[in-house]
Amino acid sequence: MSPVDLDARVAAGLAETTARLHAACAAAGRDRSEVTLVAVSKTHPVEAAAAAVAAGVLDLGENRPRELASKAAVLDDVRWHLIGPLQRNKVRDVVGVTHCIHTVDRRRLLDAIEARAQHVAQVEERDVEVDVMVQVNVAGDRAKHGCAVDEVDALVAYGASQPHVRVVGLMTMPPLPEPGVDPNEAARPHFARLRGLRDRVARGHPGVRALSMGMSADLEAAVLEGATHVRVGTAIFGGRPPRRD
Ligand SMILES: *Cc1c(COP(=O)(O)O)cnc(C)c1O
Repeated sequence: MSPVDLDARVAAGLAETTARLHAACAAAGRDRSEVTLVAVSKTHPVEAAAAAVAAGVLDLGENRPRELASKAAVLDDVRWHLIGPLQRNKVRDVVGVTHCIHTVDRRRLLDAIEARAQHVAQVEERDVEVDVMVQVNVAGDRAKHGCAVDEVDALVAYGASQPHVRVVGLMTMPPLPEPGVDPNEAARPHFARLRGLRDRVARGHPGVRALSMGMSADLEAAVLEGATHVRVGTAIFGGRPPRRD
């Protein structure tokens, strides 16, 4: 695709997504400013991410740490979000680079993030605070990442006890809907559950406010249930070649 075509296609996808977000916020009686659109550029070339930024995107998401780090080296005036699974040996790629890690689901990962943040703070002689969200497997779906619902409180408390980590919210991915089922309808109870969890957790940890939920197919349900971050790829950038994650 020529650069002009790419820019035009991404701008059109973004305009359509923004219109859906406005409509969803209006239907939910919410202010559009309450919902951050994270444009998910994974698998697409950095030129596509740059086209989104040129069209007004302020937040970009990637699900692989390496891909995030290499794109962030080129596009460094946006907020980068890690939305995919993080292994401890990849923590160094994203700490100090990402605005928020949405996918923290175990203590050992928090330990690695804290250790790396301490290191960066020392070497670069600056304050480093890593914003993270706890990913929750609300459906108890074994194929999915995320901690169990009954582990959330302990994980949030553990994160809150780390000096260089701030737990700012919860994230979830609902199970894929059965064929023929409206994705918004299928996802909504899972989003409602995450919101209920957040409300409860926030009583002890008022900094836990964010709800990262909703993608191309189900952002309306997510906004209705209080999403503060929707992660939208396909609707902005078009389809992706299949990849195992
Ligand atoms: C890929 C991905 C998205 C975006 O999905 P689309 O259906 O393309 O909008 C959102 N969240 C996560 C965790 C992803 O991996």
